[in-house]
Amino acid sequence: MDDLLTVASAVLTQLVTRAEDLQNTDTPVVTTEGVEATTKDLDLERWLTGRTMSRSDLLAFVRAYCDNAADLWHPGYFAHQIAPPDTPGVVADLLQSVTNNIPLIYELGPAATVVDRVACRWMLDKVGWRAGSGTMANGGSLGNLTSLVAARNARFPDARERGNPGGTVVLAPLTSHYSVRKAAMVMGLGESGVRPLAVDEVGRIDVGRVAETLRAVGSAGQVPIALVATACATATGLYDDIAALAEICQRHGIWLHVDGAHGASALLSPRLRGRLAGIETASSLVWDGHKMMRTSALCTGVLFRDGDHHNGLFRQDASYLYREEMADVDAGQFSFETSKAPLGLKLFLTLAMRGEAALREYVESRFDLALTLWQLLTEDPRFEVPYQPHTNIMCFRPVGFTGDVNVLRRRIADTGRFYLSSAKIGDVPYLRAVLMSPATDVATLRELLDTVAVAASDQAQPRQPRGERTDDLIEL
Ligand SMILES: *Cc1c(COP(=O)(O)O)cnc(C)c1O
Repeated sequence: MDDLLTVASAVLTQLVTRAEDLQNTDTPVVTTEGVEATTKDLDLERWLTGRTMSRSDLLAFVRAYCDNAADLWHPGYFAHQIAPPDTPGVVADLLQSVTNNIPLIYELGPAATVVDRVACRWMLDKVGWRAGSGTMANGGSLGNLTSLVAARNARFPDARERGNPGGTVVLAPLTSHYSVRKAAMVMGLGESGVRPLAVDEVGRIDVGRVAETLRAVGSAGQVPIALVATACATATGLYDDIAALAEICQRHGIWLHVDGAHGASALLSPRLRGRLAGIETASSLVWDGHKMMRTSALCTGVLFRDGDHHNGLFRQDASYLYREEMADVDAGQFSFETSKAPLGLKLFLTLAMRGEAALREYVESRFDLALTLWQLLTEDPRFEVPYQPHTNIMCFRPVGFTGDVNVLRRRIADTGRFYLSSAKIGDVPYLRAVLMSPATDVATLRELLDTVAVAASDQAQPRQPRGERTDDLIEL
C-alpha cells in the first residue's frame, strides 16, 4: 500500500473539489445518456486490455465516473431513497477497506464485531427492545429474508432441518416491498406463498379486512408464519397501522415483521415516532441506515424483539471457525452472509461525529419539506395529489395528464434540473418525489412544479435523445 496516501489523497481532493464545483454550477442532476454512451464515456474497454492507469488516467477516470453519476446532493434530486452520504460514513468505508476486518467471528475483527454490536444495540434501544438482539446486513432486502427465516423457524422449529411444511405462507399486501416476494421465492414458499392482504385506495393494509384473509388462509389449510407491515411503503411513503396489526397478530399468535427500511428513522423524532406506534409489540424490524441516516450504502439493522429468535439463526458447525462459547457473538452464526464489512461502523461514526440530534433534524426537515410540497400541490390547480404525506416521499400528477409518465419523467430529467421517479397507485401512474438532499428548499419545490407543468403541457418540446435510453419504472 505504498501508494495509498498519494493516490487516495489525490482522488479525495478531486472528489471534494468536484463536489464544491457542483454546488456553484448548473450541472445536470443526472445524465440521461444510455448504456452505450456511458460505457464509451468511461472508456472501459481500454483498461481491460493490458494497459495500466497512470495517476492522471485514474483522475480522468474518476472525473468521468462522477460525470456519469446521479448527483445525490443536487437540490433537484428527488428520485430515490439513497442517502446523500455524509462524511462519517465515508470515513467508515475507508477505515473498513484499509483494515479489511470482517466480523464473521470475533477473533477475525474484534473492533469490527463490537462496533456492529453497539450499532445494533443503539437501534434496538430506539425501538424499545431491551431484551432484543440484532445483526447488520447488506440491505433491507436481505434483512427481510433474514426476518422471515426467523419467523418461519419460530413457527416451525423443524423447518430448519426438513424444509417448510406444506401450506406455509406469508401475509403481505402487494404494496409491500418486492423483496418480500423474493424472500418467499428463496425460502421455497414460491411467490404465490405470499398471500396478499387487502389494501385501501392508497395501498395501506386494510386492517378491517385482515380477519377475512386469515379465515380464507385457515380454511385452505395454510399456516401464516408472518404478517409483513410496511413503515413506510416504498412507492407512497405511507405507514401501515402497526398498532392495529400488532393487536391482530398477538391475538392470532402471528409474527409481525415490520419493514421499516426507509421509515423506521422516524423513531429518532419524538414528534414523528408516533407513525410507528405499536412497534414495541412487533416481532422484527428492518431499518436502513443508508436511507434516512445518511450513511453510504449499505447499512441495515435486522432487529428482533426477542433475542432468542435471532441467536443461532444460521448456526453451522465449522471447526475451523466457530466455538460454542462465542455463539452469540460471532456474527456468522446469526447472519446469512459469511464475510461482510462491519456495516455498523458507518452508523456508529455518524452518531459519534454528528450526534443523534443532527440525524433527527435531517429526518424532521425532510419530512416537513414534503408536507410543504403537499401544501403547494394542493393549492395549485395544475396538480392532483392522492394523499397527505407521512414521510419525505410524495406522489403527484398533473391534472388531466394522460400521457406516458416515463416520457414526462424524461422530459423533466432532460432539463438537468430535476430527477424524479414514478410509481403506480392502483392503476394510476404518478410522479414520485423523494426529498433526500439537504440542499432542497421551498424555492426548489416551486421551481419543480413549474418545470413539471411545462414538461406536461403540449408546448413542451422534447429534446433530441442522446444515445439509447431505458424507460422502465424504477423502484428501489
Ligand atoms: C428500500 C426498501 C427496501 C430495500 O432495501 P435495500 O436496502 O435497498 O435492500 C425494502 N423495503 C422497503 C420498504 C424499502 O423502502
